[in-house]
Amino acid sequence: MEMRDLYQQVILDHNRSPRNFREIENADHMARGDNPLCGDKIKVYVKLNGDIIEDISFNGSGCAISQSSASLMTTAVKGKSIPEAEALFHKFHEMVTAGDDRPASRKELGKLAAFAGVREFPARVKCANLAWHTLHAALREQAEPVSTE
Ligand code: ZN
Repeated sequence: MEMRDLYQQVILDHNRSPRNFREIENADHMARGDNPLCGDKIKVYVKLNGDIIEDISFNGSGCAISQSSASLMTTAVKGKSIPEAEALFHKFHEMVTAGDDRPASRKELGKLAAFAGVREFPARVKCANLAWHTLHAALREQAEPVSTE
């Protein structure tokens, strides 16, 4: 597999024009994520309504994989409940680490399946997972910044 296959159209698109790239001023939860290996740094903001993720955003800087993954994550979990978002994180994590490529999983992941090729590049797995780990920390109110190291 070629490195360029990683950068599928959907990833390029979300890197070029990231969705929900902003700060939520009255966020209920916020966490910082840091991937020192690549230099990716992001913040994830969450506004809840009960256990529904009413609004979610991110900002920061990093490589195309980390930025587009964060952008896609926000669009994927917005409007979902916390358990649904955690379940999606689990599925995404399985896909990029264990290579869960079954059609049922792909269907559930939707556009997130664009990151399936990342598993061939262990260093990039951390870039793709950073936003999800940071969301997880935000929902858990983790005070310490998340590090992939
Ligand atoms: Zn990166």
